[in-house]
Amino acid sequence: MKTSSIKTVNPATGKIEKEFQEMYEEQINQILDKAVYAFQQWKITSFEDRAEIIHTTASLMREKKEDLAKLCAKEMGKILEEGIAEVELCANILDYYADKSKEFLADKPIDTPQGKAFISYEPIGVILSVQPWNFPFYQLVRSSAPNIMAGNTMVMKHASNVPQCAEMMEKLFLDAGLPKGVYTNLFIPGSKVSNLAADDRIKGVALTGSEPAGASLASAAGKNIKKSTLELGGSDPFIVLEDADIDSAVEVAAYGRLWNAGQVCVSPKRIIVMESFADQFIQKSKEIYERVTVGDPLDPTTNLAPLSSQKALEEVISQVEKTVSQGAKLVFGGKKIMGEGAYMEPTILTGIKKGMLAYSDEIFGPVLCIYSVKNEAEAIELANDTEFGLGATIFSKDINHAVEVARKIDTGMVFINELTGTSPELPFGGTKQSGYGKELSELGIYEFVNEKLIRIA
Ligand code: NAP
Repeated sequence: MKTSSIKTVNPATGKIEKEFQEMYEEQINQILDKAVYAFQQWKITSFEDRAEIIHTTASLMREKKEDLAKLCAKEMGKILEEGIAEVELCANILDYYADKSKEFLADKPIDTPQGKAFISYEPIGVILSVQPWNFPFYQLVRSSAPNIMAGNTMVMKHASNVPQCAEMMEKLFLDAGLPKGVYTNLFIPGSKVSNLAADDRIKGVALTGSEPAGASLASAAGKNIKKSTLELGGSDPFIVLEDADIDSAVEVAAYGRLWNAGQVCVSPKRIIVMESFADQFIQKSKEIYERVTVGDPLDPTTNLAPLSSQKALEEVISQVEKTVSQGAKLVFGGKKIMGEGAYMEPTILTGIKKGMLAYSDEIFGPVLCIYSVKNEAEAIELANDTEFGLGATIFSKDINHAVEVARKIDTGMVFINELTGTSPELPFGGTKQSGYGKELSELGIYEFVNEKLIRIA
């Protein structure tokens, strides 16, 4: 029997725990038909009726947060405490859109010299959403909450290694009372997704993932004149200015890079510090990493859990080895931890120069890359010398000055004196090769609605 690519392989043990059948064309057709049919009913429901279901989904997630977090641990190795925080964030996002969508999508009057005009915000139909495994619930909720509240219906293609989380999210919505067809899973491999963009029943596509996947889906969408949003990779700079609180910056950067085993699009991937305190910064980072406990995601003493798969682990190890072979210095870690799981030592690299792999590529793992620069101008130049433009952090005690620096950084988001993060009311998204479009906040709900002008003479 041919094995399916859609399965749970526990990264802590390497064992296959559950396998799912890929959907046949006929099943996919039925799902799309149902999503179109559901749209006709769903788009005319009131915001109040939608909000009640979405609030109930939030409550269910809060009730089951421990079980949902355990599912994340089992499928992609997330530390239990991080999983619980992720589920709580999901519930907050659902509540936020349940409470705010009516206000966001209320008719917007336009100041016009003659007559009257206003914008009417109307849902457009079935949205195809393609999501990655690194935040198995958050990614689904971030994409679906605003769309469902706007009156669209969703077909959700989650990453192939987190099918139980995918199945659970669909169940949570249905248990909360969402009509069948408003949100439906598609169990298909990534290679078959782009063909769906040509299907007349799909009206928009949203993808979070790698650049190749984004380019493939967005070009198929463009060819068929369909709107797309892309939330792609990042190599976020974390700039520590001369006047910063160094101890605080070291802690935030070092632990921030280990969050979700470094598999975060907005992880601080390039730490840029002034040469006046670079040695001190590197030494303190090393002391933190010496104390890190690598272990099982369900063990409360664990700081660093396995990567999502053996393949992911091998990729990160080879990126580190290549960068070191090109002349970078391995200050700490860098090796696979022997055994069944996809475990890796927390790692510190310094001396990375232009032309080396780590300078240009995203490293999706627990690898702290520390760059030393002479001054602030050099820091900004280095921060912007990348094809990515997702998030950034600036550490400084002078907030006004930090804001001036923030304006010079070519990214979609800049956070001052904290890690780049996410919250329901803050827009999330990048620029350059990190993609386009926004998710979350008021901006997130306008991506897939028809902003229709109605003019009265
Ligand atoms: P990936 O391989 O691109 O997978 C992401 C999703 O796209 C999966 O559902 C995958 O399905 C699907 N896919 C794969 N190839 C595709 C194709 N040719 N056409 C359409 N869909 C396709 O990404 P990943 O490497 O697992 O995820 C990590 C990446 O996501 C990193 O670069 C990270 O920075 C980025 N990310 C960005 C954000 C953000 O908000 N900007 C957030 C999280 C992650 P299969 O699993 O079936 O292959």
